[in-house]
Amino acid sequence: MNILVVNCGSSTVKYQLFHVKGEEDYQVLAKGIVERIGAPGSRLEHNGNGQVFTQEREVPNHRIAIQWVIEVLTQEETRVLESVDEIEAVGHRVLHGGEKLTGSVLVDDEVLEIIRECIDLGPLHNPANILGIEACRELMPDVPQVATFDTAFHGTMPEHAYIYAIPYEYYEKYRIRRYGFHGTSHQYVSERAAKILDKDPRDLKLITCHMGSGVSFAAVKGGKSIDTSMGLTPLEGLVMGTRSGDLDPAIPLFLMRKEGLSAEEMDEILNKKSGVLGVSGISSDTRDIEAAAPFNHRAQLALDLMIYRAKKYIGSYYAILGGLDGLVFTAGIGENSSYIRKSVCQGLEHLGILIDEERNKVNRKEAFISSDQSRVAVMVIPTNEELIIARNTRALARKRGENDAALHRGSEKKCRKDFP
Ligand code: ADP
Repeated sequence: MNILVVNCGSSTVKYQLFHVKGEEDYQVLAKGIVERIGAPGSRLEHNGNGQVFTQEREVPNHRIAIQWVIEVLTQEETRVLESVDEIEAVGHRVLHGGEKLTGSVLVDDEVLEIIRECIDLGPLHNPANILGIEACRELMPDVPQVATFDTAFHGTMPEHAYIYAIPYEYYEKYRIRRYGFHGTSHQYVSERAAKILDKDPRDLKLITCHMGSGVSFAAVKGGKSIDTSMGLTPLEGLVMGTRSGDLDPAIPLFLMRKEGLSAEEMDEILNKKSGVLGVSGISSDTRDIEAAAPFNHRAQLALDLMIYRAKKYIGSYYAILGGLDGLVFTAGIGENSSYIRKSVCQGLEHLGILIDEERNKVNRKEAFISSDQSRVAVMVIPTNEELIIARNTRALARKRGENDAALHRGSEKKCRKDFP
C-alpha cells in the first residue's frame, strides 16, 4: 500500500510517500517540501531515488502545490510511482480537532465541517490544513483521506489537568480548556521508548520533551498522556523560539493598556516576538544563541530561561507521575543540542537523573545518554510524526476497505436473493 502523508502550513506543504509492506514495514519512497506558497520564489525540494531535486515555479495556492507534488512523484527522473492511482490513501496532519475529534478519522463533509469549527482554536494552522484536505479530495476523489490531530494523543488528560480556573461557563460556551499539541510526536517517542526499554507501555512513567522551534513536554503514564505543557493554543508552557510560554496572565493586559495595543498586536508579540528571540534580541534559533552566549549576556539569559523552565516542568511532571522511568528528548533542539540536554538534566540528580557526558554527544539518532548509575533512563529519540500519521491512515483506510467489501458482499447477496 502507498500512503502519502501531507502536512500543510500557511505557506508550505511538507510531504512523505510511504510504501507499506506489513505492520512494521514502512519504507519512505520520497519526501519533500513546497515553500513560499502564494509568494514570489515558490520552490520545491524533493528527496527520492537517493537524489535531491529542487525547482522553482509560481505556486499561488495549496492545490497547485499538491498538484506539483503529484507531478514530481509520477514524472520523469523524480518518478517513484507510475501514476497517481498508486496512491491508496492520504494522511493529513491537522492541528486542532477540538473536543469532538479526539482520534484519527476518515475525512468526510461532516469531519471537514468540525475542523472548520475549530479554526478559532487553531487560527494559524487549521485553515491551511483544510486547504490541503480539499485539494487532495479534489485531485484524488476516490482515495480515502485520513486526518490525524496534533491534539489527539492528549485526549486522555483528566478533567483536572485540562480545565482552567476561570468561570466554568467559558468552558461550556467556547470549550476553553487545555488541549495540548505535538501529540503525534509525544505518541511516537513514548511508544518507541517502551520498545527500546523492552517494557510494556502500561508499566512506564515517562516525560517526553519535544524541543524544536515549538517546545512542549508531556507526562505519559501507562502509555497515556496525563498532562502536557501547551494549552488551548501552542503558546502556553515552556520558553520557545518566538513564543513566551507561561507568564502572568496580567502582563498582556498591562501591556495592552500601557502601549495601546490591539488584541492582534498582543497576539503577534506573544507568538512571534517573544521567547528566545524576544529575550536575546538576536535570533529564535538556539544554534545562533548557543554561539552568541559566551559573549552576550542576553543570549545566555535566553538559554538559562529555557533551561530553568524545562527543569520546573520535569519536576512538576515527576510529582504528578509519582516517579519516573524515562526522560526522552526529541525534535530539533532535543535531538541535537547536547548543551541544552546536559543543562536541563544538571541538578536533577536527586530525581535519579544522571547524564553521561560522552554518551550525550549524540546527534539525531536513538541513544541512551544517562550514566549507568542513573535510575531514570534518559534517551534521545528522533521524532517521526509522519510515521504515526501513516500508521493511522493505513488502519483507517483498511477498515474502510473492509467495510466497502462487506457492503459489496451484502449487496451481491441481496442481488442474488432478489434475482434468484
Ligand atoms: P519545527 O519545530 O519547526 O518542526 P524542528 O523540530 O526541526 O522544527 O526544530 C528546529 C529548531 O531546532 C531550530 O530552530 C533550532 O533552534 C533547533 N536546532 C536544530 N539543530 C540544532 C543544533 N544542532 N543545536 C541546537 N539547536 C538546534
